Amino acid sequence: MPMSLPSGAVSARLIGQDTLPFSIIKKCNPRAIASYRDIAFDWFYERRLAVNEPIGLMTTDTFEKCMPKPMADNVGLSAAKPQTSPKVGFVSLGCPKALVDSERIITKLRAEGYDLAPDYAGADVVVVNTCGFLDSAKQESLDAIGEAITENGRVIVTGCFGVEEDRIRQAHPSVLAVTGPHQYEQVIAAVHDALPPLHDPFLDLVPAEGLRLTPRHYAYLKISEGCNNRCAFCIIPTLRGDLVSRPIANVMMEAERLVKAGVKELLIISQDTSAYGLDIKYAESQWKGRALPARFHDLCSALGELGVWVRLHYVYPYPHVDSVIPLMADGRLLPYLDVPFQHASPTVLKAMRRPAAQEKTLDRIRRWRQICPDIALRSTFIVGFPGETEADFSFLLEWMREARLARVGCFRYEPVAGAKANELPGIVPDEVKEERWHRFMAVAQELSAERLAGMVGRQIDVIIDEVDDEGALARSQWDAPEIDGSVFLNGEANLQRGDLVKARITHADAYDLWGARD
Ligand code: SF4
Repeated sequence: MPMSLPSGAVSARLIGQDTLPFSIIKKCNPRAIASYRDIAFDWFYERRLAVNEPIGLMTTDTFEKCMPKPMADNVGLSAAKPQTSPKVGFVSLGCPKALVDSERIITKLRAEGYDLAPDYAGADVVVVNTCGFLDSAKQESLDAIGEAITENGRVIVTGCFGVEEDRIRQAHPSVLAVTGPHQYEQVIAAVHDALPPLHDPFLDLVPAEGLRLTPRHYAYLKISEGCNNRCAFCIIPTLRGDLVSRPIANVMMEAERLVKAGVKELLIISQDTSAYGLDIKYAESQWKGRALPARFHDLCSALGELGVWVRLHYVYPYPHVDSVIPLMADGRLLPYLDVPFQHASPTVLKAMRRPAAQEKTLDRIRRWRQICPDIALRSTFIVGFPGETEADFSFLLEWMREARLARVGCFRYEPVAGAKANELPGIVPDEVKEERWHRFMAVAQELSAERLAGMVGRQIDVIIDEVDDEGALARSQWDAPEIDGSVFLNGEANLQRGDLVKARITHADAYDLWGARD
């Protein structure tokens, strides 16, 4: 006889549980049954909110117990349940606040297609939401974890006592993950890690990897929102707030889903990719059974394990960025770094409030090239920023030649409503901005042509973006989609989007390459 999840302590008193007209729910197709199951679940929670007694311990079997029998039968909770649905057992200890946390976690899991198991034996994994208020409550939590490990073996711990991870792991080293109170995303991530959700093509309106606007073979992966910098020309921090990093396990699981769905190239984006994890103090989360800190280097290293192209965008030249360059030299990341320098003149950078001194940046770029000689640096610049003099602009052109940037974009400065830069003196006339933009682009073109000429004769890896009767349009490792150059493989029509092939470069112009499969 399977051991039920602890039910003796259930003290919730549910009201109005037999008032719904369930007899109308008869003979439904699977979609309708699923809808009714969701309605039933919502109904259950509405009543859970009406609980009018303190709750000591809630268990998963409460759901089925509280449901009127006709409803459980009619909505097919047993018979129509897909045999393969992942099943989570849930033990909730503690106060009503912890109970609400449990409800939110269960609701989210249920919405993702997980079923709740009424006993330990039927659960693929058990979540124990702990209480850490008193010593006796902590002991009760440890006992509950111990019971779940004995009866099931695959246990995730969350809740108030989760802040004492060391103590929990000392007592129960085999727990799969420990998260703290209110860490909904982390506990859900831990469940995903231990027991991935199923994608049901008959019931889910979106594919498991989500809907995308990019071609199937590449995808943008956003690792954080917001920005802690305060550049004078930018209002993004006002619009999006300070940096908020995603837990690393969530980022990695999304990356895995994308790869599983056929993505061959991940483009890592955020406002400030190299600041990843700063706001969450590099918090660890579990991915593939190991604790990963939310650090830029650890993220890059883990992404490098996925076996696809990984391209880094919006990286600032902080010292810790040096540590990912060896990953590029090893082939785990693409040898490509998108660093939005915006300018090079110290005076302009200071007025822009950019935290970069050009001497150090040039030194840093030299060091990067020593480690990974093939690295391509792409950047964007602004010309005509308030106060920019001819000397500042000439300095920028000279700096570009020294930095040997592979790809650059350039904007003529435009005031943005609400930006601090609007208060600066030294407005640059439009005709001067225009003239500087043309001079800038001429240098950029010259540098690009020089670099691409050096590619002729080389065998390089390319990814196929488009194929038609005349041939294939591809990209090299040093070219991001939409913003950089292309490699034309004329006559190579026997290829498909997303194919990775070797090409011998036969010709180059200022921005693009031509070649043939090798
Ligand atoms: S320009 Fe970029 S780094 Fe600067 S404040 Fe805006 S988003 Fe942040």
